Amino acid sequence: MKVLVLNAGSSSLKYQLFNMLTEQVIAKGMCERIGVNGGAEAYMGYSAAGRDKIEIQHEMPSHKEAIELMIATLTDKLNGVIASLDEIDAVGHRVLHGGETFKSSVIVNDEIMAKLEENVPLGPLHMPPNIMGIKACQEIMPGKKNVAVFDTAFHQTMPDYAYMYPLPYQDYKELRVRKYGFHGTSHRFVSEVAVKLLGKENSKVVVCHLGNGSSVSAVKDGKCIDTSMGLTPLEGLMMGTRCGNIDPAAVLYVMEKRNMSVKEMDSYMNKQSGILGIYEKNSDFRNVRDDYAKGDERAVLTLNMVCYKIKQYIGNYAASLGGIDAVCFTGGIGENSALVREKVCADLAFMGVDLDFDKNSRLERERTAGNVDISKDGSKAKILVIPTNEELVIARDTFDLAGK
Ligand code: AMP
Repeated sequence: MKVLVLNAGSSSLKYQLFNMLTEQVIAKGMCERIGVNGGAEAYMGYSAAGRDKIEIQHEMPSHKEAIELMIATLTDKLNGVIASLDEIDAVGHRVLHGGETFKSSVIVNDEIMAKLEENVPLGPLHMPPNIMGIKACQEIMPGKKNVAVFDTAFHQTMPDYAYMYPLPYQDYKELRVRKYGFHGTSHRFVSEVAVKLLGKENSKVVVCHLGNGSSVSAVKDGKCIDTSMGLTPLEGLMMGTRCGNIDPAAVLYVMEKRNMSVKEMDSYMNKQSGILGIYEKNSDFRNVRDDYAKGDERAVLTLNMVCYKIKQYIGNYAASLGGIDAVCFTGGIGENSALVREKVCADLAFMGVDLDFDKNSRLERERTAGNVDISKDGSKAKILVIPTNEELVIARDTFDLAGK
């Protein structure tokens, strides 16, 4: 009853091994710098439950070698947690883009593999390593079932008037240009917990996933009806290094004035904007928070911009949902920053979102684990801090489809 969860990036591989009877993580690790300089500089960090972390230097020219090293470590006599590969029931893979083809997770076969390839143009940076990870597992662990879990799938319930862009219709028909949304496993996990905590059949939930990448979603009766990310993860909120929503004409103007190519502008908006673009020192929100406390002008502007844009989305989605039963905060910033939650929820009592400032700041001081309600006792809507667990969603889907 064990499931392996893999998240293959362009030069990295993150993994977790779950015991599905207890849903506990038995071991986890991350390989970095795969393929960089032919794999000569690659290394793996590995930790098994209750034991010290170890670092292993090893040549990893491709994901195949990384997966082989992971398996060797998991089954190692000294550091391992399983006697052999037979103990692993199935492998779950995080896959960025399911396009319109995948509305839920699937067991991978040749037909599915071909459909995944069709989605590469929609995620040219992430899809190739995602697919490479699946292929490597098929090669190294033949006969083991692989399940693809998509970042976009949860958002496939959006109505057409929410996901269409008002560009000429031919761009949707021919180029598949529309809003897809991302962070779907997180929005699904958090909204499911919220619906359970609300304990009512019909629910209107807004999920704010705030981390280095950030997105908001509107979830009605457990189904996503809108989300802030779009065709790519660039749309929506201001993020660590992504600009989020801006006037599209500003893009053209800056390109023209600075004589930039499409590629350069893509990098400018994805890697040099957002928090990094305004704060300028770096994109780590903890530094912004510390400088904000000292009154640093740019940190104040950055933090105010970040919070204002989240607040706007909550209002936006309250209108889409026709009311609001719960606002949920998750992700590195959402789970840890009382200041952001306070600024986002300030002045929202008029629409039933009434924050208990003391409960909110106590949560940061005491670092209470689990799900916490930080709304005032009489608040119409609950304000919930719910730690996300995307890997667990992947493990559960994998187990449900292939492991049982
Ligand atoms: P994630 O991408 O979900 O791992 O979140 C990473 C972001 O969360 C980084 O910008 C961190 O600086 C930020 N973060 C983590 N802890 C805190 C905290 N206590 N206060 C503010 N931001 C935090």
